[in-house]
Amino acid sequence: MFIFHQLGVYKGTNKTVFKYRTSFISLIRKEIKAMAKLIQDDQNIYGRVFFKDDIDTYKVKWNESGVANFYLEPQFDSLNLDLFILDQEQNLIESSLQSTGLHELIKLEVSANRFYYIQVKHAGDIGPNTDRNRYLLRCKIYPQPKDTRLKYLDSKYSVQHINQKKYPKKRPAVPMNPEYVTIHSTANKKSTAQNERNWLTNPLNKRQASFHIAVDEKEAIECIPLNEVAWHAGDGHGNGNMKSIGIEICESGNRESTLDHAIVLTAQILKKHGLSISSLRCHHDWTKKNCPRILIDDSKRHLPYETWAWFKEEVLRYL
Ligand SMILES: [Zn+2]
Repeated sequence: MFIFHQLGVYKGTNKTVFKYRTSFISLIRKEIKAMAKLIQDDQNIYGRVFFKDDIDTYKVKWNESGVANFYLEPQFDSLNLDLFILDQEQNLIESSLQSTGLHELIKLEVSANRFYYIQVKHAGDIGPNTDRNRYLLRCKIYPQPKDTRLKYLDSKYSVQHINQKKYPKKRPAVPMNPEYVTIHSTANKKSTAQNERNWLTNPLNKRQASFHIAVDEKEAIECIPLNEVAWHAGDGHGNGNMKSIGIEICESGNRESTLDHAIVLTAQILKKHGLSISSLRCHHDWTKKNCPRILIDDSKRHLPYETWAWFKEEVLRYL
């Protein structure tokens, strides 16, 4: 749903390091002093990569204005890289000068049809081993206006309530006036939103646990009415269960798309119930459970910046 761009550069021979990335821009690499062109199908971004000395320069232009998130990810801990963003007159706008390891996100308001230069500089001696000389520059653009995205999600939202009489354990029909929204992740790498919905009514599932909405890379499914209690927070008759809408983020499919969906959905649900960002909770807040693990557990998140604090910040952008 979102326009998602990634720029990738490798120096070395092993391309497979990027295999897990989706929507990867095809890259044509030429020899020394030559340039590589980054080509992308939807033409919202394009750039050139120059391999000269130890600075790579990307010239990038967006068709639309929006907020661009840049993120530099060395593929080896020992690779020291600095990231600079320059305007079309080549004045420095932003830089990330952490000398080693994973770099922090740079957020930048970009204008339509303006060039930006993105420079990646090797900091310090990188040594003769070209395999170490490898990194990934990621850039994600959130184009305006955001309203179109909200509309898009509406068309992907379906209501498939579980039958109250057949599944009273999971859907107790206790009226609820929601004061919070609680985020979970499914802890199941394979199941989609539809799988999660179907599991609620699977005869093999004897558990009481339930949730209101499951969201994945493609859609969101409402399984229990949002004005009824569902058992998702593990805090008994506490506020997590009794006063909050439980959203399960699926761990299947494309993580970026899934999180984008979850962010917009969460904002929509908060808005609809007159709630602010201070009403947003994660499961861990209620019971210290490692959930949503894809946002709070370093070993489960796909990208280092996909933290709970980041998620909240993104939701806030849509409120
Ligand atoms: Zn949970």
